[in-house]
Amino acid sequence: MKIYRIVPHCSATDFTKDYSEQQLERDHNIRGIRSPMGYHFYIRKDGRIVKGRELSEMGAHALPFNRDSWGICYEGGLKEGGTTWRDAQDTRTDEQRAGELNCIYQILQYIENIAVGKINIDYKIEIIGHGQLPGIARACPCYDAKKEFSWITA
Ligand SMILES: [Zn+2]
Repeated sequence: MKIYRIVPHCSATDFTKDYSEQQLERDHNIRGIRSPMGYHFYIRKDGRIVKGRELSEMGAHALPFNRDSWGICYEGGLKEGGTTWRDAQDTRTDEQRAGELNCIYQILQYIENIAVGKINIDYKIEIIGHGQLPGIARACPCYDAKKEFSWITA
């Protein structure tokens, strides 16, 4: 069974500070991730959706699960003054929650388009938080994504 994953992330930054897509891109570049960024979408606090990688391109967001997965990231995820995962907090704004759903919907449509018409393709779609992937021990995206989006893939 082929598994297609949609993986929500947070930027792991203090939610009271702005963390622009330019900063994100620069930080990814420093870590060896090429432009535009490792995610397919980045969602700013005001809900604005910034397009990263093309949906047809593999992301660089959840090693070793980048293949057949799409990464979306919201700005924030750490409480005021926070600098590490110990300061994890679900800091999503209503606009970001709506933005996440919008991105998830776009990715679902994309997956269905690539899967449709293929004979004998047995697949399922999982929406799973970065830290919920096997062997990844971190708080990202600072909420239970599996639970929150279970109604979509059920
Ligand atoms: Zn992450």
